[in-house]
Amino acid sequence: MLVGVPKEIKNNEFRVGLTPAAVREYVAHGHQVMIETGAGDGIDAPDAAYIASGATIVATAGEIFAKAGMIVKVKEPQPSEWAQLREGQILFTYLHLAPDPDQARGLMASGVTAVAYETVTDAHGGLPLLAPMSEVAGRLSIQAAATALEKPHGGRGILLGGVPGVAPAKVVVIGGGVVGMHAARMAAGLGAEVSILDRSIPRLRQLDEQFGGRVRTLFSTLDTLEKEVLSADAVIGAVLIPGASAPKLVTRAMLPKMKRGAVMVDVAIDQGGCFETSHATTHADPTYVVDGVIHYCVANMPGAVALTSSHALNHATLPFGLALADYGLAAVARDPHLRNGLNVHRGRITHRAVAESLGIAF
Ligand code: NAD
Repeated sequence: MLVGVPKEIKNNEFRVGLTPAAVREYVAHGHQVMIETGAGDGIDAPDAAYIASGATIVATAGEIFAKAGMIVKVKEPQPSEWAQLREGQILFTYLHLAPDPDQARGLMASGVTAVAYETVTDAHGGLPLLAPMSEVAGRLSIQAAATALEKPHGGRGILLGGVPGVAPAKVVVIGGGVVGMHAARMAAGLGAEVSILDRSIPRLRQLDEQFGGRVRTLFSTLDTLEKEVLSADAVIGAVLIPGASAPKLVTRAMLPKMKRGAVMVDVAIDQGGCFETSHATTHADPTYVVDGVIHYCVANMPGAVALTSSHALNHATLPFGLALADYGLAAVARDPHLRNGLNVHRGRITHRAVAESLGIAF
């Protein structure tokens, strides 16, 4: 298979579809790989590193879209990219089609076969190509909270871990899944006092065992949630109800009763956010203040640490990408988990939930 990797063109996106290490694996499987010049610049992977891994460097994305049998990317294709995709070509990337009818129509019109990272499944009911970015966002959420809590950034001026003789900050994590667990680990590691709230008792049991008492696990009732949020220095929103918009768990009415200069990081903002007062922000201008409470609501947090994120993403996508390159479309027929990733094929939406969200016949 001729596999192509264009440079990402979405605003402020520095990740890359294949790292040089991944290219080497594709080449070892007998594939040819074409990389657009500069595609790896954002992760300190110059063209020379790709050449050393066996890739060919090409000057333009156009050459890749014209020749490659399979295109590997990170972000959903932009309008100028839809126009270049074609029937018989495989696209392997994040798509997030449900809230994006324009992109859905563009991909359908192109005839491309598109496999979306975010709907590929695993044998445990998880989403293995989404999990690495949740790990990154969970860990990053504590760095974001720590920075926003600093006085020059408008925060309470409290150090997460405190110092001997001075109490640490209190961090409340709502949702104890992948994001929540990694946020709690970072916060506890820095010495903060940490609570995790969830509505899944099996999940709370796992977390309790994992943290060995270092983190408090709490079943999330309205009562508990309010008590925890009102006494928090930092709140991390990390809930997910798969396929649905996030429930608004922290209401506007709670904000005036919270500590002045407290910070709320809404990681669930990509699903609409779990705080009533959340709206999406960007890395260029990540925070805003409502009723004295700082909100951080960046929708593509992993993009800030493109180097870590690209490597983590490649580790997860590699086996699926290799299967697609080795077997083409037959890989989808062989593996029900990869089949779950198939979102578009020859002008049709092929994923039931995506089709239903878009109001398109399945
Ligand atoms: P996950 O499925 O692993 O965990 C979600 C947890 O929320 C589950 O344990 C679930 O039981 C819990 N939950 C659901 N409803 C709840 C409620 N009412 N109260 C308390 N807990 C509740 O999901 P995840 O991978 O941790 O992702 C969490 C969110 O973060 C998702 O919306 C995901 O898309 C988002 N995310 C955002 C970014 C970003 O850059 N902003 C990056 C990665 C992930």
